[in-house]
Amino acid sequence: MDFILQQSELADLARKVEAGTRLETEDALRLYHTPDLNALGRLAALANERKVGQRASYIVNRYINYSNYCILSCQFCSFARKKRDGDGFELSIEEMETKAREALALGITELHIVGGLHPSLPFGYYTDMLRALKAVDSNLQLKCFTAVEIYHLARKSKLPLPEVLAALKDAGLDSLTGGGAEIFRKDVRDAIAKGKETAAQYLEAHRTWHQLGGRSTCTMLFGHVETVEDRLDHLAELRALQDETGGFTGFIPLPYQPENNAIAVTHPPTGNDALRTIAVSRLFLDNFDHLTAYWVGLGMKLAEVALSYGADDLHGTIVEEHIFKMAGAGGGRGQAEAALVKAIREAGKTPVQRNTFYEPVREWEAETPEAPGNSKPPGILDDNLATA
Ligand code: SF4
Repeated sequence: MDFILQQSELADLARKVEAGTRLETEDALRLYHTPDLNALGRLAALANERKVGQRASYIVNRYINYSNYCILSCQFCSFARKKRDGDGFELSIEEMETKAREALALGITELHIVGGLHPSLPFGYYTDMLRALKAVDSNLQLKCFTAVEIYHLARKSKLPLPEVLAALKDAGLDSLTGGGAEIFRKDVRDAIAKGKETAAQYLEAHRTWHQLGGRSTCTMLFGHVETVEDRLDHLAELRALQDETGGFTGFIPLPYQPENNAIAVTHPPTGNDALRTIAVSRLFLDNFDHLTAYWVGLGMKLAEVALSYGADDLHGTIVEEHIFKMAGAGGGRGQAEAALVKAIREAGKTPVQRNTFYEPVREWEAETPEAPGNSKPPGILDDNLATA
């Protein structure tokens, strides 16, 4: 065993991890509270290396929010608007096709599409949207919709959940997004997202999608009113569903952003908390292949460090981002592919461009000196959404 770990107070847990023994919730609680953050990070990094070696990935993708109109008013949300608000928006399918074509010129492999629960768009808008975007390029992977949007579409279409998902799959949906998981425990969920789908419904949407042969990611919004025990309960639920279906491609912990919403949080997650959460998640979710350090929420500098604390993915170029930006995160514009590659190299890893399913598209040799083509953030393409 690693000498640093051998000498640390985590030596017994390190032996467990080394033997491939699954960690219990009490083990994860100890890891969360250890004062030795570096030992925790080292242990998570070893677990990560056993999964993926020295590779770390990113995706060349583009976000599109088709609308921010939403019939719900989740307390933590800074993104949603009502029709009476002056800064709501909705995109036509033609506008989305244009964005897709522009982004294809940048080499994207994925469109990541979510929106609010729109009060009046019919189910046909969503299936037509998927078909139209696939027609732009049949190789473009469409990662769309959160679980709560799927339930909204089930209500709109008056179809049962499996039929809604099957219709979306038939229209071209490749992957569900992981958004909307927040924290599963009911008291926390009621405090931050009252009216949203329940934890059981979130899990059922992903279970049903996996049973149809689909894959998806999953998330956890941390650093608001929840406790560490709430986070571990959340991770345990995800781990159990992954045992059952194996359908999750990766886990994405999302640090809470505190601005422009109805929750009074004076101490949003610190860098220490974020690294600790990423490391514990890597160790506890032993049946997940990939864990993303989401640069939009963490900032690029911390996301880069997280690659040494158990994360193996930086997520993507994105092009434009609204949801975290409107909640106070820096950025809002995309990240240049070159910046993602540089960050991965600086972390001592081999950069791999991946697709939606974390499959390699391109592997950069560690010693390759030149950066990939688009060295400017790609967000310069898009200025039409004043809310960004
Ligand atoms: S989090 Fe999603 S469902 Fe909740 S108000 Fe915001 S857009 Fe609507």
